[in-house]
Amino acid sequence: MNCSDMKIVLVSTPLGYIGSGKGGGVELTIGSLVKGLLKLGLKVILVAPEGSVLPSGCSGVEIHHVSGKSQRSWQHQESSADVMIPSEGVLPKLWEQALEIGESADAVLNFSYDWLPLWLTSHVRVKIFHLISMGGVSDVMKRLIGDLSKSHHSRLAFHTKRQASDYVLAHQPIVVGNGFDLDNYDFQSEGGGPLGWAGRVAPEKGLEDAVAVAANLGDRLLVWGVIEDPAYASAVETSFPPGTIEWRGFLPTSQFQSQLGGCRALLNTPKWNEAYGNVVVESLACGVPVVAYDRGGPGELINSGITGWLVPPEDLESMTDRILRIDEIDRKECRSWAEKSASDYGFANRIVSWIKSGLLDKDVRIN
Ligand code: UDP
Repeated sequence: MNCSDMKIVLVSTPLGYIGSGKGGGVELTIGSLVKGLLKLGLKVILVAPEGSVLPSGCSGVEIHHVSGKSQRSWQHQESSADVMIPSEGVLPKLWEQALEIGESADAVLNFSYDWLPLWLTSHVRVKIFHLISMGGVSDVMKRLIGDLSKSHHSRLAFHTKRQASDYVLAHQPIVVGNGFDLDNYDFQSEGGGPLGWAGRVAPEKGLEDAVAVAANLGDRLLVWGVIEDPAYASAVETSFPPGTIEWRGFLPTSQFQSQLGGCRALLNTPKWNEAYGNVVVESLACGVPVVAYDRGGPGELINSGITGWLVPPEDLESMTDRILRIDEIDRKECRSWAEKSASDYGFANRIVSWIKSGLLDKDVRIN
């Protein structure tokens, strides 16, 4: 099948509209993938919550907006929590649309980390593929992904091996990485700026450890991202000397990257098995080395000693020490890693290869 003959439906996250920041890295991933797929000549349709806006360069996509109440994110619930779909929830509405449009498409690609689309996979004719966006934060999701791997393994892909290791899979995981429109990120060669941290401000992202390191160094820390948990944000702020955190807000990529690019290092301190870590690659694309915990996706993305440093999780002393050695990192190496390993075009190619071979998979049992 040629790419230009392929029609694919992407279904966005039900956590918030694209552009809200509530969907985390998935929002940027969808924009990059749309661009990459359009460059490859595919026909792309996006089903997304009302208000969703894609970055420029995506005008060739057909968007179907759907209204409804946002889904609650799994990572902010007990791991034993039951499946909950709110009354008037956007999730089932997204899937009503997707299944209807999907009848005339080659494949439907799901971005939501949710029970419903995974469960539907073996019960409908439409060929649903899933790019799993999180590690195993919920028992019910872990079980469902494990079961689906037994009957439809080729329909599941992951961002990193470390993320996939949270799941009990029937075969080796299909790992597709991620992709970025690197033209949106300017390389900045000067490394004398402040320290930075970026992400949703929520406990699983571990902002407090980065602030502690900045405070140890008597430095300030620039922080970008949606404040998802205001009580947590203010508890972190008041635990350290005033002025250590400089809140920069949740910015569009163009402004985010231009400010981030002036930093001497990005600190990345996840407390969970981070599936990928978009901000790590965005930082490298600007030429900013990353000092991160050797945990989850960042542990797989950073070439320690070349594009930044990996330190044992929770080891604030090592992190402080590595920041003092940040001049040993050549910022050009950071940019060139991003170009080689994380372009939108390369990512779209990997996604298309995965879906094409999944469509041919004779082992898929039910449809
Ligand atoms: N981000 C942004 N503007 C900001 C700060 C962050 O657009 O001011 C985006 C960033 O581009 C990234 C996302 O927020 O795509 C965070 O994603 P990441 O994969 O790092 O973590 P997640 O939120 O998915 O756990």
